Amino acid sequence: MNFEEYIIKNDLGIVEKGYRFSELTTIGCGGKIKLLYTPKDLPSLIQAFCFIEENQLSFFPLGNGSNVLALDHDYDGIVIHLRKMPYSYTIEKDILDCSAFYPTSKLAYDLAFEEWGNLSFLGGIPGLLGGAIYNNSGAYKDDIKKHLIDVTYINSAGNLITIANKDCAFGYRKSIFHYIDGIIISARFSVKKEKTIEILQQRAMQRKLSQPLESKSMGSIFKNNPLIPAWKVIDALGMRGFHLDDAAVSAKHANFIINTGKAKSNDILRLIELIQRRSSLEFGIQLTYEITIV
Ligand SMILES: Cc1cc2nc3c(=O)[nH]c(=O)nc-3n(C[C@H](O)[C@H](O)[C@H](O)COP(=O)(O)OP(=O)(O)OC[C@H]3O[C@@H](n4cnc5c(N)ncnc54)[C@H](O)[C@@H]3O)c2cc1C
Repeated sequence: MNFEEYIIKNDLGIVEKGYRFSELTTIGCGGKIKLLYTPKDLPSLIQAFCFIEENQLSFFPLGNGSNVLALDHDYDGIVIHLRKMPYSYTIEKDILDCSAFYPTSKLAYDLAFEEWGNLSFLGGIPGLLGGAIYNNSGAYKDDIKKHLIDVTYINSAGNLITIANKDCAFGYRKSIFHYIDGIIISARFSVKKEKTIEILQQRAMQRKLSQPLESKSMGSIFKNNPLIPAWKVIDALGMRGFHLDDAAVSAKHANFIINTGKAKSNDILRLIELIQRRSSLEFGIQLTYEITIV
C-alpha cells in the first residue's frame, strides 16, 4: 500500500498533489511537491510518520514556510504540512506547556494578554512554534533557549521523546533538530508575570518601519557576525536595493532578500552567493545563511 492509500484507508488527514513550495513559503519560490500531507490531528500525524519511517520515504516537515527556500526542481517526497494542526496551551505553576503548532507571534500576544510577559520577544516572528524551536528563533537579544524547559518530538520509531534544554544543542539559529529525523510536537517554557502589551505594540511598529513586511521574504538571510551585523556588511558592499532579476536586497533592510515578482529560488540563491562572494573577497567576512534550503 502506498502512502496516499494508507492515509485514506486510515482516515489520517488529506494528501494532495500539484502543490508547489511557492504557494506554501513566504518567499513565494520553489518547485512542485509530489505529495502534500495535512494531518488531521496529533494521533494521525504520529501514525502517518511511523508509516513514512518504516517505508523509508523522504519527507519534509513544513510549518509556515517563513524560513525555507525550496529549490525550483520537483520535490520527490512528502511534505508534512503542519499549519492546520490543532494547537493549544496550558499554564500551571509558571510553566507553559504549548503545542508546537501554535503560531509563534500569536502565542506572544495571547500570553501578554494574560500578563505572562517573558516570551514577548516572539511577537512579530512569523511561523509556528516548532519552526522557532528548530532554529532557536530570537529577537531583541532574547531567544527560545533562554526560556525553554524541554521539547517533545516524535522520533523515527514513532515514540514521543522529551529532551531537556541542555540536550537540545541550542546555538545561534540552530538546535539538535537540524540533525534529528523527527517532528517537534510540544514544548514547555518557564513563564513570568510581566506587563508587555505596550512593548509588543511598540515593537510591531518598529518592525513595520524597519522590515519589508509588505514583500515576500524569509526574514533575515545571514547570521550576524559577532563583530558586525550582516546588514552593515551588505550596506558596506553598496548592495542595499540591488536587484538580480526579481530577487532583490530590500531597500528597507539590507539583510532581507525579497521576491519582487516572479523570482525563482535559483535567482534568490544567485543573489545570496553573490553577497557571500563579495563579502569574503572585499572584507574577508564569511556570511552564513540562517534559512533552510530544501
Ligand atoms: C518577515 C519575517 C521576519 C522574521 N523575523 C524573525 C526574527 O525576528 N527572528 C527569527 O529568529 N526569525 C525570524 N524570521 C524567520 C522565521 O519566521 C523563523 O525562523 C520561524 O521560526 C520559522 O517558523 P516556520 O513555522 O515558518 O518554519 P518553516 O519555515 O516552515 O520551517 C523552518 C525549518 O524548521 C523545520 N520545522 C518546522 N516545524 C517543525 C516541527 N514541528 N518539527 C521539526 N522541524 C520543524 C522545517 O523542516 C525547516 O527546516 C522571520 C521571517 C520573516 C518572513
